Amino acid sequence: MNLVLAQMEIDEVLNGFIELKEHSSKCKFRDCGHSSEPGCAIQAAIANGEIHRERFESYQRILVSMQ
Ligand SMILES: [Zn+2]
Repeated sequence: MNLVLAQMEIDEVLNGFIELKEHSSKCKFRDCGHSSEPGCAIQAAIANGEIHRERFESYQRILVSMQ
């Protein structure tokens, strides 16, 4: 997935997903797209069950709908 949204818009969507927002600050790259980036804290949290995959998927759906 190639997201072309401004970081500001992405941050705004993240405000509605507090647990995603929390983890996103721990990603290795500040402009992490949380899909397949190395060092992504959100992908790690999904893998260990800290974030529900459905929550992440609805976050992604919102971003896609904004493009
Ligand atoms: Zn990430």
